Amino acid sequence: MSPVTAPSAAELSALAARALAACGAAPLPSDGPHGARTPITGAALGRVGATVDVDTAVARATEVYRAWRTTPAPVRGELVRRLGEELRAHKADLATLVQLEAGKIESEALGEVQEMIDICDFAVGLSRQLHGLTIASERPGHRLMEQWHPMGPTLVITAFNFPVAVWSWNAALALVCGNPVIWKPSELTPLTALATQAMLDRATASMGLPRDLGQVVLGDGAVGASLVAHDGVAIVSATGSTEMGRKVAPVVAARFARSILELGGNNAAIVTPSADIELVVRGATFAAAGTAGQRCTTLRRVIVHRSRFDEVVGRLATAYASLPVGSPLEKGTLVGPLVTLASMQRMHGALESAVADGGSVVVGGDRRMADTHPDAAYVAPAIVSMPAQTEIVRTETFAPVLYVLTYDSFDEAVHLQNDVPQGLASSIFTTDLREAERFCSAAGSDCGIANVNIGPSGAEIGGAFGGEKTTGGGRESGSDAWKGYMRRATNTINYSNDLPLAQGVEFG
Ligand code: NAD
Repeated sequence: MSPVTAPSAAELSALAARALAACGAAPLPSDGPHGARTPITGAALGRVGATVDVDTAVARATEVYRAWRTTPAPVRGELVRRLGEELRAHKADLATLVQLEAGKIESEALGEVQEMIDICDFAVGLSRQLHGLTIASERPGHRLMEQWHPMGPTLVITAFNFPVAVWSWNAALALVCGNPVIWKPSELTPLTALATQAMLDRATASMGLPRDLGQVVLGDGAVGASLVAHDGVAIVSATGSTEMGRKVAPVVAARFARSILELGGNNAAIVTPSADIELVVRGATFAAAGTAGQRCTTLRRVIVHRSRFDEVVGRLATAYASLPVGSPLEKGTLVGPLVTLASMQRMHGALESAVADGGSVVVGGDRRMADTHPDAAYVAPAIVSMPAQTEIVRTETFAPVLYVLTYDSFDEAVHLQNDVPQGLASSIFTTDLREAERFCSAAGSDCGIANVNIGPSGAEIGGAFGGEKTTGGGRESGSDAWKGYMRRATNTINYSNDLPLAQGVEFG
């Protein structure tokens, strides 16, 4: 798979510049405070100019919120519909930028933009469905009802690995819910953010709406922290590591604002005696090695019944051995680079720790293409057989390391699945209905996502997305996740000529 030579920095910069221009973003300046780079070679893609500062961004969002909150929700939906049209028109160009900045293969990058289109469609329908309940009153001539109102400026902090989809899950919902959006993208992916923002700008301009309904503030974690602490920000939706969430959560809580936290995962699949091995191999290989193991929902642990252990590990090892690792710009590649050399060092450190704990590397783990791509982090996805769920197995290492463990009883398997700090995604491979239902029951998986006969990754936007424990508890995307972007008002309407008090209280 390895090309003989890496594309030159100039070639990749030119590709980025063409894609940016096609998306309608301003050309990059020759100098600027932010850098853009690509994990494909590790080379710089260019400099990026300054964006609006934190205080100005919040002041502008606060200003536009006044009119946006009373704009009819279906009109707000029309803005999101136009954003979706922009994304349809520029899908391939934005996907190119996702490839360049996040290192994804073409199919996954296109899939990421498709996810943005899907959530726009969802949010357009939602804009006519922001409904509350009507509730029976205990008092004659009275009615109780709920209304859902906008909350205010919504900060969206995103991680490098889904540089644009995660913004869209939040922004499409926040906008139809009546909230302006401020976006602090990952410092590793500024270009995808600028290209997306250019599309939102065109959508707002086409309706004569204020540009500041969506703003980008580029910068590192310190810039994110300033936004998080700002009293003018009503909602903080933060996606990234649990370490980041531990810093963000107390700051938001201290000022009684709302947080939606989407943090790290440590996702498992249980393989039972009745499992369909073909589904296991295909499902686990995609979930563990796809996106080079850099999804929050990446499969990191396989818990296999002892009777199937050798078969499952053998089949997975065979599948892994033929996985094409290489530049995501090359046709046929399935595993692209890790985002930085530091990520590769963390992967190698994890493998060393696992071996020190008695584990053995079944396949993979070696660095690839160091000769042609010395500044990039290509690795062969690894499978490690573990004697127990040790501390390193309980830790999210954001790289393609799949730990394999054995179990004897179903209860033991569920215990192992749940016995980690994270609670994002999980799955079971079984053809036994009882096992499937027990896994999905209250006494089964403790994760926000529990799947049967598919891996833990690759969620659709129709369901609520998120997880428990150190994954943060937030929900985004489909179902009723929109309620996280609105405040509930309970109204009691008296249409009688009397004033009876609740609970039979007499006063005077
Ligand atoms: P990261 O935590 O390094 O950075 C994420 C974002 O947080 C970046 O924009 C960063 O600038 C910002 N940030 C860092 N410190 C901050 C602070 N103190 N205050 C405010 N913002 C701060 O994460 P990453 O390496 O970009 O992404 C990988 C991690 O994200 C993994 O742990 C992965 O599981 C997680 N993730 C979770 C989900 C989910 O939905 N649960 C989705 C994608 C990624």
